[in-house]
Amino acid sequence: MKVTDGVYAYPWTNFMENNCNTYVLQGDGLILVDPGLKRYVPDTLEAMKKDGLNPDDIKLVLCTHGHPDHIDGVAHFNSGSVQMTMHEDEQKFLDEIGKEFFRMFGLSEPTFKPDFFCKEGENELQGIKLKIIHSPGHSPGSVCIYWAEKETLITGDVVFSGSIGRTDFPGGSGQVLKQSIENISGIEAAYLLPGHNEIVEGKDQIKSNFDFIKRSFFSFM
Ligand SMILES: [Zn+2]
Repeated sequence: MKVTDGVYAYPWTNFMENNCNTYVLQGDGLILVDPGLKRYVPDTLEAMKKDGLNPDDIKLVLCTHGHPDHIDGVAHFNSGSVQMTMHEDEQKFLDEIGKEFFRMFGLSEPTFKPDFFCKEGENELQGIKLKIIHSPGHSPGSVCIYWAEKETLITGDVVFSGSIGRTDFPGGSGQVLKQSIENISGIEAAYLLPGHNEIVEGKDQIKSNFDFIKRSFFSFM
């Protein structure tokens, strides 16, 4: 579904199983953010076609972090013509304890590696100026992605509508996540696209969502 010009969302709505929301950013080629579980990637590609997007135009898969429900589907694109990127700290995490998650999910460990690491600050990806904001706490190399021109903020599992990412996984920290949330809460966004659950739309709603999160969670973190 189209969120705004150049930004598409494929939210996961089945509560019987955990998978992430997938987003598509339209630049020179398409950037697929968080492909989710590999077995559901074909469904996402079908949904893209209905929106007039050609899956063959996907040139880059950008992962907010390395949990299996976000990156397992990278394996679908392991053909060589699609690049993959995430934060360097998340690759380190995957090389160490992060890979254990895949076994816990009954999945095989990822064999793919990023073609390059996205770096903190401005990145020009597929002709789009995206700001990558390193936002650890849910996982060490989590990133948020801000497309200023579209007032779009993709938050991965840092914040959701009315909630925050878990910090009880290995590599997680409540104190660190709190700082990451503080860091992104002032960003001017009209669309907040989280890794799970519903999108938050509207500047006032996004501000209220951050206010709610700070009020509800910060004293426990
Ligand atoms: Zn996660």
